[in-house]
Amino acid sequence: MNKLLVVGSLHYDIMVDAHHRPEKGETVIGTGCSYKFGGKGGNQAVSAAQAGVAVAFAGAVGDDDNGKWLLSVLQKHGVDTHSIEVIADTPSGMSIAITDAEGDYGAVVISNANTHIDAARFNDQALWSGVKMLLLQNELPEAANIAAASEAHKRGIKVCINAAPAKTLSTALLACIDLLVVNGVEARDMSGISVTSLQSAAQAAKALSQEFAVVVVTAGEHGVAFCETHQHSGALAAEKVELVSTHGAGDCFMGMLCASMINGDALETAVSKANKAAARHVSRQP
Ligand code: ADP
Repeated sequence: MNKLLVVGSLHYDIMVDAHHRPEKGETVIGTGCSYKFGGKGGNQAVSAAQAGVAVAFAGAVGDDDNGKWLLSVLQKHGVDTHSIEVIADTPSGMSIAITDAEGDYGAVVISNANTHIDAARFNDQALWSGVKMLLLQNELPEAANIAAASEAHKRGIKVCINAAPAKTLSTALLACIDLLVVNGVEARDMSGISVTSLQSAAQAAKALSQEFAVVVVTAGEHGVAFCETHQHSGALAAEKVELVSTHGAGDCFMGMLCASMINGDALETAVSKANKAAARHVSRQP
């Protein structure tokens, strides 16, 4: 079977709209509020499932209503949730984002149950049955990512990391990664190259390919650049669409990229499909 295993975070997201974000000591009367399924891991798993591949998720939620809801959303999209632990006496992960009238936002993430994921579980043979690719992000404790990546690497399973949010990756993790995907900010933090255009995204991808076999740098409205084994590189302009919201563009991109590669597409084809899927995503109402 061609299955994607996502090891990642699950968050209950509270999205608040307000004229402006509160200053120190200030209480602001908000203008709206909505609740969303979230966590980079969760969003990427749903995106891959929507793209038509079998997806299993390993992670952790709390023993609260939010945890039940997070599991139900994954299940509704056909994601296998058997390897998600329910942690007793612990709240599920959550985030609160405040978006102001200008569309700028600030957010706080509280990882809660996500930090309780048991790294020993990755020794379980059953977890890897039929898995063709492992997808990680940087929202879980590094120990969990290392345990999952090294087990996958040992088994000859491709390891893909969306290194978001940006942080320095340990040598143990670096040794297992086959494919790195980062956005412009993360690419700048990791390569020192400021990503302001498709051309600079391509430069950053090339620089990062000294360290990673395959690199994809997403560059928002500019598009996406990639570099494979220091040599084969390319860049695709973003599709022209009517922008509604860029929220979750990167997660949508990741899900489609992995689904396409699992189905046997070459990197360039997978990047092109992901570029199109992410453009559709930013042009529709959340
Ligand atoms: P993230 O959401 O992780 O910050 P990006 O902003 O780089 O990621 O967006 C990921 C991808 O989404 C881009 O590479 C592109 O394919 C698509 N995308 C983002 N913004 C736009 C846009 N304004 N128009 C068309 N496609 C977009």
